[in-house]
Amino acid sequence: MYINGEWEEASSGETRTIINPYNQEEITTVAEGNVDDAKRAIDVARKTFDQGDWPATPANERGEIVYNIGRLIRRDLEELASLETHDSGKTLEESRADMDDIANVFVYFGGLADKEGGEVIEPPIPHSTSKVVREPVGVCGQITPWNYPLLQASWKLAPALVAGNTLIMKPSEITPLTTVKVFELMEEAGVPAGVANLVLGPGHTVGDELAKNMDVDLISFTGGIETGKKIMQAASSNVKNIALELGGKNPNIVFADADFETAVDQAMNAVFFHAGQVCSAGARMLIEESAYDDVVDELVNRTKRIKLGNGFNSDTMSGPLISADHREKVEKYVEMGKEEGAHLAVGGKRPEEPELQDGFFYLPTIFTHCKEDMRIVQEEVFGPVLTIETFQTTEEAIQKANNTIYGLAGAVFSTDICKAEYVASKLRMGTVWINDFHPYFAQAPWGGYKQSGIGRELGVQGLEEYTEVKHIYRNIQPEPIGWFK
Ligand code: NAD
Repeated sequence: MYINGEWEEASSGETRTIINPYNQEEITTVAEGNVDDAKRAIDVARKTFDQGDWPATPANERGEIVYNIGRLIRRDLEELASLETHDSGKTLEESRADMDDIANVFVYFGGLADKEGGEVIEPPIPHSTSKVVREPVGVCGQITPWNYPLLQASWKLAPALVAGNTLIMKPSEITPLTTVKVFELMEEAGVPAGVANLVLGPGHTVGDELAKNMDVDLISFTGGIETGKKIMQAASSNVKNIALELGGKNPNIVFADADFETAVDQAMNAVFFHAGQVCSAGARMLIEESAYDDVVDELVNRTKRIKLGNGFNSDTMSGPLISADHREKVEKYVEMGKEEGAHLAVGGKRPEEPELQDGFFYLPTIFTHCKEDMRIVQEEVFGPVLTIETFQTTEEAIQKANNTIYGLAGAVFSTDICKAEYVASKLRMGTVWINDFHPYFAQAPWGGYKQSGIGRELGVQGLEEYTEVKHIYRNIQPEPIGWFK
C-alpha cells in the first residue's frame, strides 16, 4: 500500500494471494488492508488537502505531472500489459490496447488542466462583478472493479489529480497489480507525498470506510448496482458527492438494411470481447425479423470458431472468466435461460480441452428465441452470453431496447442514417454507437442513465465531477443600504 509517500505492508500484517485465472497459479501476494489502514490514509489525504500545497499548485504544473504519468505508462506499456494479462486473464492484445487508452487518459487530462477556466457573469445589479470559479472537491475516495482494473482507475486518478484534490484509491481485491505499479509511476512523475494514497483490501471493510468516513468529500465508484446502492447509503453520512459507474444490459439493434458483414463482425466483438466481462457488452441483440435467420446462422458459426486459451498466445481470441465464483454465476444464468424457454444455439457449458481445465473458462454462448421479460434478457450476466430477440418495426426496437433498468450504452446498425439517428435519439442511454460498438475515448463523456449510474467520467464532464463550483460576487461601489437604520 502507498500512504503519505511511503510503501507499506498492512498494519495487521495480513496478505492476500493473487492468482492467474488462466491456470490458478499464484502470481504474488499483496498487503490486505483493513479499516484502520483506510482511516490512516484518509487522515493523510485530509491533512494534505487542508494544509498542503497541492490544491494551490498552478493547474498547469499539476497538468504536467499528470501528463508525465501518461508518458511513463507508454514507456512501461509492455510490462503493464503483461501484468494485466496475468492478473485478469484478458489477451495480451486487449491489455496492450487498454494501456494505450490509459496513457491517453492521463495525457488528455494533463492537457486539460489549465483549459477549464471559470466564467464571468453579467450581474443584474449595477456596479458589481460576478464570477464563477471551479475549485477541487477535497478528499476523494475511489473504488474500482476487476474487469478493467487500471483503465477504470485511470478515469478517476487523472481528473482528481488535475483538479487539485487528494485521494485514496482502493482497487478490486482480485486485480490490484497494475494499480500498484501505476502508483510507482505516479511517484516517479512527481505526485507529492500524501496527495495520492493506495489502500488494498476488501470492499466491505476498506471500501465501506471510504464511502462512509466523514472526512471524505467525494466517493467515486465503479462496480455492480447492488454495491452502488450500499455506497449511496454509506455516503449519506456526510452527504458526499457521489459518482457511480454501474452495470449495463446493452442492446445491439440490427436492422435488415445494415451492412451484413459489419453488423455480424461488430456483434461478435460487442459481446465476446474480454469474455463478455465488460460493462458495455452488447449482450442483448435485437434483430429485424427479415434478417434474423441469416444473422443468427453467421453468429453461431463464428462463435463455434472462437479460440479460448492463454492470453499470452497470439492465436487466443478470448481468455477465462475472472474466478470460480463468477463462472458459477454465469452458469446459473445459463440454466435460468434454458428454464425460461430460450433456445440454446451454441455453447452453454465449460470447454472440454484438457489444457483449459485449470482456468475458469466458459464457452461463448448464444440464446435465440428470447423474450423481453426473461431474466436472461433483463439482467447483467457479465459473461460470454448473448441473447437474441426480434422486432418488426422501428418503434418496437426502441421500446424493447429501453425496457431494462439499465441505461449505459447501446448500438444501432443501419444504412438508413436518418433512421439510425432517430433511434439513437430515442435510446435512454449514456452512450449510443451508430454502425459501431464499443468505441470510447478520453475526450468524450462516459456514464449511465437510469440505474447504470450517476455522473460522468472522461471528457470535460469527467473533470467537472472533481470540482466544486463557487460564485464570487463583488460590489465595486460599496455604500450603505440604509434598511435598518
Ligand atoms: P463489485 O460491485 O462487486 O465490486 C467493485 C468494487 O467495489 C471492488 O473494489 C469491491 O471491493 C468494492 N466493494 C464491494 N463491496 C463494497 C462495499 N460494501 N462498499 C464499498 N466498496 C465495496 O463489482 P465487480 O464485480 O468488481 O465489477 C463488475 C461490475 O462493475 C459489473 O456490474 C460491471 O458492469 C461494472 N462496471 C461498470 C463500468 C462502467 O463504466 N459503468 C465499468 C466497469 C465495470
